[in-house]
Amino acid sequence: MIGPKRKPPPWLDTSQPQNDRARTQLCPRCRQPILRALVGHVAALDVRADPTPLDLAQEVAARLQGRTTYCLRVHPHLPARLIHRGPEHIRAGRCTHLVVADHHCPRTPAPAEPHTTADRLF
Ligand SMILES: [Zn+2]
Ligand SMILES: [Zn+2]
Repeated sequence: MIGPKRKPPPWLDTSQPQNDRARTQLCPRCRQPILRALVGHVAALDVRADPTPLDLAQEVAARLQGRTTYCLRVHPHLPARLIHRGPEHIRAGRCTHLVVADHHCPRTPAPAEPHTTADRLF
């Protein structure tokens, strides 16, 4: 059940940049939809995440691949936000957020290898 729409109260600070708002974009490389947001308030990271929510096993698998996972906080009347999923947040038990992981682009250009082994003449 969804209650009546409530306007944000006038004292709500909307002037502060709310830069963890997740925007849906297309990955410039593989053209897959990604969530993009600045996560963190001090040193915000430009995060590109896959929009597909992960269950616990998938999150563990993603973390084992070295991917970072984030909470996607969805609110019926507010833009979705990506939140850093710190150890404390995880330890606090299951949260109500969706969990998403970094977008690892399948079209990432080949890893920079300035010289292949064939170049090692010396
Ligand atoms: Zn969470
Ligand atoms: Zn991509």
